[in-house]
Amino acid sequence: MSVPKTWRGEKYRYRLEAVKCTGCGKTYMPARAVCPECGSRDFEDIKLPAEGKIVTYSMVHVGPAQMQFEVPYAVAIIELENGLRLTTQIVDTQNKELKIGQKVRMVFRKIQEDGKTGVIGYGYKAMLAE
Ligand SMILES: [Zn+2]
Repeated sequence: MSVPKTWRGEKYRYRLEAVKCTGCGKTYMPARAVCPECGSRDFEDIKLPAEGKIVTYSMVHVGPAQMQFEVPYAVAIIELENGLRLTTQIVDTQNKELKIGQKVRMVFRKIQEDGKTGVIGYGYKAMLAE
């Protein structure tokens, strides 16, 4: 598969997708050019389930400068329905108690804003499902 690098970058940044190595079957998100497990360069696209559960989490009370307005916030390891794990922020947790095993849904949110350049970064965050 030969697609321009920039195009691939956009695709994986803005969609909840990952790639699966055709050599060893490992899943990567974001996508990799070469599989660190088996060295294969052949990957197939897979669409990730939007639902998962909290494996573990921690509350951040002192965050990096651009996140300061959001503290305290929760950062969690989420296990998606297909077993893939990812680390992400859980949004809208005010007055809600987090529990291990709680169901979450992946949502597309603003990650950070660069005050100098006005560049806004977007990505996936998790939201409590109920
Ligand atoms: Zn592999």
